[in-house]
Amino acid sequence: MSLLEVRNLRVHFPVRHGLFSRARQFVKAVDDVSFHIEPGETLGLVGESGCGKTTLGRALVRLLEPTAGSVLFEGEEITRLTGAQLRARRRKLQMIFQDPYGSLNPRMTAGEIVGEAIDIHNLADSTEARRKRIAELLKAVGLDPIHALRYPHEFSGGQRQRIGIARALAVEPKLIVCDEPVSALDVSVQAQIVNLLHDLQQQRGLAYLFIAHNLAVVEHISRRVLVMYLGKVVELSDAKSVVRAPKHPYTQALISAVPVVDPDSKRQRIVLPGDVPSPINPPSGCPFHPRCPVAEARCKKEIPALREVAPGHWAACHLAK
Ligand code: SF4
Repeated sequence: MSLLEVRNLRVHFPVRHGLFSRARQFVKAVDDVSFHIEPGETLGLVGESGCGKTTLGRALVRLLEPTAGSVLFEGEEITRLTGAQLRARRRKLQMIFQDPYGSLNPRMTAGEIVGEAIDIHNLADSTEARRKRIAELLKAVGLDPIHALRYPHEFSGGQRQRIGIARALAVEPKLIVCDEPVSALDVSVQAQIVNLLHDLQQQRGLAYLFIAHNLAVVEHISRRVLVMYLGKVVELSDAKSVVRAPKHPYTQALISAVPVVDPDSKRQRIVLPGDVPSPINPPSGCPFHPRCPVAEARCKKEIPALREVAPGHWAACHLAK
C-alpha cells in the first residue's frame, strides 16, 4: 500500500467578475491529478509559478478543500475527515512553507513555536518532558537549544526555516509537503537545508512531496519527479529520466533553462514564448500548444492523454515516444 495515493484530484475556484456577477467560471488550479508516494520516498513536483503546485500541496494537507477526487493516506480517505479525526490524521501529514518568516508567529519564541505543536497533540506528559523534546528537536535541525528563548526576527532566513522544520517534526509525521522550502534562501544556505531534509529523511524514514521550480534542487533530493502545467500532470518518471531524457516539450524547456557547469555542454536554451495562460480560459486541445515549439495542427484540437511512453515514464504529449 502506498503512503499517499491521489486519484483524479481537482481543486477549482469560482471566479466572479463583479459584485453582482453570476457568471459561473472556474479557475482549474488542479485538474484531474493522480500520483502516489511510497513510505520514505521523495517525489519532486516542478513547474512555473501559477501551474498549481502550491494549491495541490495545500489540498493534500487540507489547508484547501479539494473540489473532487480522492486522497488516500495510509489507505484512509482524508478528503471526508472532519474535526478530531482530521486533526489526528494531520499529525502524520505536515507542511513546511516557502516563507519561513511569514509562517512563524513573530510573538512566539522558537521554543514556544515548537512546543505549541507538541501541546496540540498532547505529546509530552510533563513540563520537563516537553522541555527536553523541544531541545531535542532544535538540536535535530542544527539549532542550539539555548536559542529556544529567541524570537523569529533574531534568526537568519535559513535558521527560521530550521525552526519550521522542527515544528513539523515535533508531531512525528510520516509525510511532509515541502512547499518551495529553499526558494527564498541564499544559494549557499539552500544546500544546507536540502542536506538537512535529506539527513532527517534517512534518520526518520520520512516521505516528502518536494515542491520547487528549480529542477537542479529537485533532481538532487527526489527519487521521482512530477511536472505540472496549468493544473495538469504533463510528465512523471524517476528523477534521472526526467532530467536527462525528458519526453515532454515543456519539461525539455524547463531543463534547458537550468545552468550547466560543463563548458563543453552543447545544451541549447529553449525560450518559451509568453507566460503560462490563464487557468480560467485554458487553451483548447493541448494546454501547452500556444507555447510549444513543436506543436502540430492536431495539438489545438485533441487533448493528449497522460500515457506510458517508456517503462515507468509517463508524458502527456501526442508526439512523445
Ligand atoms: Fe506540444 Fe502538441 Fe505535445 Fe502539446 S501535444 S506538448 S502542443 S507537441
